Amino acid sequence: MIGAMQAPPLRVTDLIDHAAREHGPREIVTRWADGTTSRSTWAEVARDARRFAAALVDLGLARGDRVATLAMNHGHHLAAWYGAAGMGGVLHTVNPRLFHEQLAYIINHAGDRVLLYDAMFAPIVEKLKPELTTVEHFIVFDGSGEDGFRALIDRSDDGFEWVTGSERDPCGLCYTSGTTGHPKGVLYEHRSNIIHALASLQPDVFDLSTRSVFLPVVPMFHANAWGVPYAAAMVGAKLVLSCTNEADVLWRLFRDEGVTHSAGVPTVWLAMFADMDANGGDYGRLRRAVIGGSAAPRAMIERLMRAGIEVAHAWGMTETSPIGTIGSRPGDWDDLSFDRQVDVVVKQGRVPYGAELRTLDDDDRVLPRDGVTSGRLQIRGPWIIETYFGDDGGPAIDADGWFDTGDVAILHPDGVMQITDRAKDVIKSGGEWISSIELENAAVGCAGVAEAAAVGVHHPKWDERPLLLVVRKPGSTVCEADILAYLSDKVAKWWLPDEIKFVAELPHTATGKILKRALRDEYRDYRLPGA
Ligand code: AMP
Repeated sequence: MIGAMQAPPLRVTDLIDHAAREHGPREIVTRWADGTTSRSTWAEVARDARRFAAALVDLGLARGDRVATLAMNHGHHLAAWYGAAGMGGVLHTVNPRLFHEQLAYIINHAGDRVLLYDAMFAPIVEKLKPELTTVEHFIVFDGSGEDGFRALIDRSDDGFEWVTGSERDPCGLCYTSGTTGHPKGVLYEHRSNIIHALASLQPDVFDLSTRSVFLPVVPMFHANAWGVPYAAAMVGAKLVLSCTNEADVLWRLFRDEGVTHSAGVPTVWLAMFADMDANGGDYGRLRRAVIGGSAAPRAMIERLMRAGIEVAHAWGMTETSPIGTIGSRPGDWDDLSFDRQVDVVVKQGRVPYGAELRTLDDDDRVLPRDGVTSGRLQIRGPWIIETYFGDDGGPAIDADGWFDTGDVAILHPDGVMQITDRAKDVIKSGGEWISSIELENAAVGCAGVAEAAAVGVHHPKWDERPLLLVVRKPGSTVCEADILAYLSDKVAKWWLPDEIKFVAELPHTATGKILKRALRDEYRDYRLPGA
């Protein structure tokens, strides 16, 4: 016997239809690269999505075909996102900051048939064209000519009927940053996106409602802009999309558009603070700041919280749609001192209902949730990867559905998860582990330190010892002794770096994380003092 309730397939086209029907006039604002701003609505985005779906069919695309975008956040990107899914296709968001070879590999591997791009990326596209073996159509998102997105959709039909199908059909594709080997594709499904969006609305996750005004600084090509374009449609939140991440532009948008929610990697917030320090300004109506992608330093969390902003520290991966955990407030939050509240927020939080975590030791034994033992972090749930796209196939999970994240974490008895490191970045000193993340984040709390990276350097006695690379804030004269003194009561004595080296800048990945692999390669055989 089965139950007696309706079970329509969960499709993302129902999301955009819902947004258009129930929240039609709610605004979608785009700040374009040329400095102009345009205003659209959920109803207009839905109409443009239908026209784009019709245009794709006219171009000969069929169910399951991939449509690539090389683009920043804007209203046309949003319409293409829903339109590609609506014709049964798969929207493949490509990160324009990747190297040429990676871009060519990813687009060919995905077998993309259409490539939509922002005019600012035209030089990248021109260089790629001779190497792209599957792309048949190139469309400029912000082009005013016949080959432009606007012209294409203006020629098309509003009456297109969405392609229907299973909720398990794919609708999105995103490649991992690929710090080792080739990038791998993560193929999202209609169902996984809807369930992820439902989970992300909760007060303990994004805390979204119709009244929310969300400016995702995180790009749409970085793990679905953390799912914001889906979650916002579900509640009819206003979206503010920016083609540039320049701090002064973002602050102005925050103020002028009444932004209540924003999300970005720590480097974005650092750049925004630097601009605020130099030019003044305020947070406007900002109420909730989601920080993820790498560990949010304590000093950053404190600064936002002191300004009265709720910080939602999130952990996730391309493979987890991307929300894995997020910092929900514990029941006794209101009774905690400010410092204890910050202690809570620096950890990465809990899984929303649906996902589960566990940690394992090197012999694959499940570790206790005791708040001290760290181990390999695994996750499973309805928005977590099962297999990578294409011939990289084979299951990404074990027989019980657990996906090994490559992160090292501690699970606390109250359910809170704390990332201690990326497995590859842990510094192994005399058989014990030093968390490079904790060391770095303690160091950036020291006045005069703009950014810091801790790497394990070969040591004849201890196997590895930490070297701390530091970028000073402009005009600062902070020295090694200052930083060591500052760290002395924040980390164990044997964690203190053997040397602090000042550098002009640190390398970053295409999603704004410090490129540890490059630093490890550069400094592996560095001679530390006394080694
Ligand atoms: P990506 O798939 O490129 O977004 O990278 C995912 C990886 O980023 C994770 O496996 C973590 O190593 C790291 N990461 C994401 N969020 C956090 C966080 N809040 N704290 C520490 N590491 C994080």
